[in-house]
Amino acid sequence: MKEYLCDSCRFKIELEENISKCPKCGSDSFHVVEDIANNEIDAIIESMLEEAKEEKKSRIINKNENDKCILLSDDNYSIEKNNDKCINCGQCKKVCENIANLTYDLNICNNPICTGCGQCVLSCPTKALSIKSEYRKVKQIMDANEKIVIAILSPSVFLTIGKIYNIDDISVAEKKTIGILRKIGFDYIFSSSFGSDLLSFEESFELIERISKKEKLPLFTSSCPSWIKYAEIYHPELLNNLSYCKTPIEMEDEIIKNYFCEKKGFDRKRIVTVSISNCSAYKLYGKEKNVNTDYFITTNELLLLIKDEDIDLKTIDSSNYDSIVGEISGSGYLSSVSGGQTESIIRTVYRVINKKDLAKDEIDIYELRGNEDIREATINTNSLKLKVAVVTDMKSLEKLLENSLYKQYHLIEVSFCKGGCINGGGQAIYENCNNIENIKDLSEKIYLLDKNSKNRFVYNNKELKEIYKKYLENPGSNNSKKIFQSNFENKKVLLGKE
Ligand code: SF4
Ligand code: SF4
Repeated sequence: MKEYLCDSCRFKIELEENISKCPKCGSDSFHVVEDIANNEIDAIIESMLEEAKEEKKSRIINKNENDKCILLSDDNYSIEKNNDKCINCGQCKKVCENIANLTYDLNICNNPICTGCGQCVLSCPTKALSIKSEYRKVKQIMDANEKIVIAILSPSVFLTIGKIYNIDDISVAEKKTIGILRKIGFDYIFSSSFGSDLLSFEESFELIERISKKEKLPLFTSSCPSWIKYAEIYHPELLNNLSYCKTPIEMEDEIIKNYFCEKKGFDRKRIVTVSISNCSAYKLYGKEKNVNTDYFITTNELLLLIKDEDIDLKTIDSSNYDSIVGEISGSGYLSSVSGGQTESIIRTVYRVINKKDLAKDEIDIYELRGNEDIREATINTNSLKLKVAVVTDMKSLEKLLENSLYKQYHLIEVSFCKGGCINGGGQAIYENCNNIENIKDLSEKIYLLDKNSKNRFVYNNKELKEIYKKYLENPGSNNSKKIFQSNFENKKVLLGKE
């Protein structure tokens, strides 16, 4: 084992074999650390300190130095700004630097960088920033009555509806929200948790295969659109380690537009899919990646739609998801919280290796829950000590990447927003909506949805099994990859440097 230090970016890496390029910046100039004389090491440390100071100075530099506010490009499909309301308080820029951890110099890269996470919107005291809205367009399509409009509803949405309309029973909140969507005019309603089940099933087998081949480890999850963009810009060296899977909404969309349409005899050109979630990043991601899902609307937009339609919740009947793509395991709910996707994957990996379910008292992995920015757990299976980590913001991720600490894990789940999708930028904005207590409350409700589910294991989801039997064959099969495989691009060029 040798310890290398990159001459250009000072990235330190320990490797057994010789390397020709720095995995971080691509430079081919290295020192083997043990070979460096003491005075050289002092010089290197000196220059690293200088660079650190420089980096601090150059975090998101606007061309106009008096402008403390974030800049947004005209083609930002997630976020917009009303200049008349902006008081130039600088709160949004602080959030973008410290939570989203974006660093760039506009003098060099010309275009503002944004992942669409929406955390700046949640922080803006004057509501000068907002998430771009598309819900009126969706309603027009429903009213024209020519298309089959299908909702893909995320759990964080009905939990928020429950909170705002004082519905304490989370299962009632879910059924009432489905009822609201029917009243608004959606033809079919499915849960995004079905997509999470699909994703977790595929990723479990992908992980097992990588472990058995000892390649591309750790496997990084690829379900968070903001994280994907961050990786493409700041860590292209990790793109090979990302799971091949698309995001859960896109995977569910593929099943709706292929398998569901075929079963129902629908022409897929008539289908319009609408994801409803707390995530604002999907809007930007959807356009930039040209994804098949037709519209991404947020919880906030759904609330505006309820208001526009003058819907009185007392008069709304409870309803259930439609079938064929409607069954959800408890694991499917879990993906809405940071760490939940990992818990779900562990259940399947354990089952495959040990040929039995995790015992009832082992099923909840408490080490992966809570507010810590980095959480980790080791799961003992018959043939493997599975080491996993969960990271909830990009600053913490950078800590893991430093000195190759991340290499000790088999699986790393990354979500851009603290707490996971329940704290996405498209959530309903009310007082303290994204404070720790609210995130904790919503997380507890997600854990309860899982706990109360009749089936908590993805691999026992009957509709999912049917889809594999009739259409996909196996996870990772050619059929699966044909519709589920994502494509990641090295976007380092957006930083304006090679
Ligand atoms: S947080 Fe809002 S008001 Fe403050 S600088 Fe940003 S956009 Fe303007
Ligand atoms: S949406 Fe996120 S990444 Fe984009 S400007 Fe706001 S905080 Fe920064």
